[in-house]
Parts: sequence; structure tokens; C-alpha cells
Amino acid sequence: MNLMNDIFEADSEIADLILKELKRQEEGIELIPSENYTYRAVLQAVGSVFTNKYSEGYPKKRYYGGNEVVDEVEQIAIDRAKQLFGAEHVNVQPYSGSPANQAVYFALLNLKDKYLGFNLTSGGHLTHGSHVNFSGKNYTCVSYDVDPKTEMLDMDNVRKLAIQEKPKMIISGLTAYPRAIDFKAFQEICEEVNAYQLADISHIAGLVAGGAHMSPVPYADVVTTTTHKSLRGPRGAIIMCKTEDRLHDLYHPTSKKNLAQLIDSAVFPGLQGGPHDHVTAAKAITFKEAMKPEFKEYAQQIVKNAKALADELMALDIKLVSNGTDNHLILIDLRPDGLTGEGKLIQNALDAAGITTNKNTVPYEPSTPFNPSGIRLGTPAITSRGMKESEMKVIASGIARVIKSKGDKSVSAKVHEEILELTKEFPLYPGLSILK
Ligand SMILES: *Cc1c(COP(=O)(O)O)cnc(C)c1O
Repeated sequence: MNLMNDIFEADSEIADLILKELKRQEEGIELIPSENYTYRAVLQAVGSVFTNKYSEGYPKKRYYGGNEVVDEVEQIAIDRAKQLFGAEHVNVQPYSGSPANQAVYFALLNLKDKYLGFNLTSGGHLTHGSHVNFSGKNYTCVSYDVDPKTEMLDMDNVRKLAIQEKPKMIISGLTAYPRAIDFKAFQEICEEVNAYQLADISHIAGLVAGGAHMSPVPYADVVTTTTHKSLRGPRGAIIMCKTEDRLHDLYHPTSKKNLAQLIDSAVFPGLQGGPHDHVTAAKAITFKEAMKPEFKEYAQQIVKNAKALADELMALDIKLVSNGTDNHLILIDLRPDGLTGEGKLIQNALDAAGITTNKNTVPYEPSTPFNPSGIRLGTPAITSRGMKESEMKVIASGIARVIKSKGDKSVSAKVHEEILELTKEFPLYPGLSILK
């Protein structure tokens, strides 16, 4: 199947840019931990005729006609997600991770209600309480943080804060924290203080599905995740939850809805209109892939690659936040190399070397989020390409030389040659006929 014939006919300008982006993705080393290379089947499902359909509502309860086929697709997606994660209830309609979280807030909190979120500077997400985001503007967020010495979460501190603040909800989950999260310990705190746990596994869903990270599903009241990060599917999200509202009598005494109904009605009609049925089809494909034994191997290899990359970087005298990783991501602390506030310089120098990363704050960042002192790396995308521990050595060597040179152009150019050699051996989408 040729994916692109008609795009050339309709709009050669955009067709050329798609080819240019494919080349960029193919020739570079993609280390942004929230990115991945999805399956060809997912690319095709997202380009399918399901994009033409409107289907507000839920399977068998729609506001439009002609939904008999969409109903089957959405039900398959729901059933597979339930099976994959062992969830009691799943909503597959959220457009992306941020709207999924917004729907959970909308379902469980009233305006100004208090919740605990992970400090953005130390690894939380914008939707976990940043003052520029709806989550910080509409609700009262108190942030918990990592221990300044170990740079890891200390659950005793989270517990103390929870007892002191009496939040209605506690968010567990990460965007830039390289360590395992103890969702069971979070739930114990939540039960002690009568708070809901929202576990946001957007980054680690692939590891959870593949058994390479503790699952929050048996514990947390609600679990959100994107489908496009380590889970390797289309851009989108799902919400999983328990059926019963554990805190009904306390927080929703007049409501006739259980937790599953609260979540569903917050997504639609509370927040969204028609679901993106083409993406729902692609989500279903993704869940099927993630139930295969090969996906378990993939998830384990993501973690092995991250450990190998971390060990190699540390051996080359690069400082990592918390001195290592348990998951798919690594946070480089540039301060010991005299590069405080120079994350942008190093991100650009790595770009010039064909290595895509992002600048990131480090815990208790002394500089600003726009000029932070860290670089965030992750291994889901390069693992999808088939790279293993030996390739991590080549990549670590390139990254270390770029950092130690403090962004010297000739060093980036030399590393770029090596990266082009490496990526040639790992073709992206082999056999995909994309040209005319
Ligand atoms: C990526 C991410 C989100 C937001 O997802 P979008 O699809 O970018 O809206 C939410 N929470 C966490 C923890 C994330 O990593």
C-alpha cells in the first residue's frame, strides 16, 4: 500500500514536508522519552475512513445514526484495554493525555478543591498543578517534591504532607523522574487521608503493560495514560478506573453515579464532543500488539537500554539525577560540567549531532525552565528501532563528547557522522512504500 500517492496530487508542499520529516526521523537518534515510532498498522488506521464518522455517546448509546461499526471498534478497544491492564472500567475516548487528566479533575473535584501533585521542576507534568495550566488555575495544588539529597521521592514526606493538607486527590506519575513509583504506597496514603489516587502513567504505560514497572491498576482509583509514548500507539489517551466510588458518601453523597459513570460523563458530554473513531481503531490495534509476548521483551529491553545508557554515561563522568534510572528515562545534570542553565545550548549541540533530546529542569533548579540545567533522554523510540546495549555505548560516547566540549561545533559534526552510520543500520519502517 502506498501511503502518499494522493498527498502528492493534492498538496506537494505538504507531501515534501512529510518526506523531509521521515528523513529526519530516520537519520537521527530519537531520545525524547515521550516519543516513539508507532506501528505501520497504526499509521494506516489513523488514515482510515473512521475519520469521517461522528459518534457522540458510548457504544449502543449514541446520538447519531450509522454507528453499528464504530460500536464494534470502540467495544473491542475497551475490552482489549481492560484485558491488557486488568482494569475494571476503561474509557478510550480522551483526545490526549491533558484532556484525559482534565476529565478526571472535572469528575472528582470541585473548583478550588485541594489536591497533591508532583512538583513540575522535579518530574511532574504541567497538568499536575502548574500555575500556568488549568490544573493550577482552577484547583488548589500543593506540590510534593523529591528529597534534595537522593533526588528520589520519599513516601514518608508525601504522607506527612497529605496528613497536613488533607487533599481530596493525590496524583502519582511522572514526566521527568527516572525512578520507579510505588503506587501501592500512594494508595495507602490516599486511604489514610480519604483522597482519591489518580495515577498518571502516560510515560510508563508500555513498561506497565509489559511487566517492567509496577502497575497502579490494582490500587489507584483512577489511572490515566497517553497511548503514544512507551505504549507505542496513536496520539491519544485512555482513562481506567474502579467501578465503585470508594469515597461516594464523603464527596458525592447526592450523586447516583458510581466512579465509572462519573468518569464517562466527565469525558462526554462534560468535556469532549465526538470521539476520534479513527484513533480508537488505532488504539485497539495497539492494545492487541501490547498483549503479544514480543511486547514484553520490548518493554524489558527499553529498561535494559536505559540502564546501559545511564551506566555508560556515568562511566564517562556525566552526572545523572539520582545517579541512575529504574525506567525508560534519564536526566542529565549539567551543573558539574559548568553548564548551569545551559540545557538549551547542549540540546542544540546534540541536535547538530543528530541526537534529539530535550532540555529539562533538574530538581530544585537554580536557573529557569526556559534555560534549565538538565537534558532529558529516553529509550522507547530507539528500542522500537531494534537498538540494544551495544548501540547505547555508541550513543553515550557521542553525548558525553558533545557535553564535555560544551557545544563545540566540530565535535557535534564528528559525532553526527557516527550517528548517520549507526542509523543506516536500523531502517525505520523497512519496506514502507512512501514515494510515488
Ligand atoms: C505527556 C503527558 C501528559 C499529556 O499528554 P498530551 O497527550 O501531551 O496532552 C500528561 N501526563 C503525563 C504524566 C505526561 O507525561
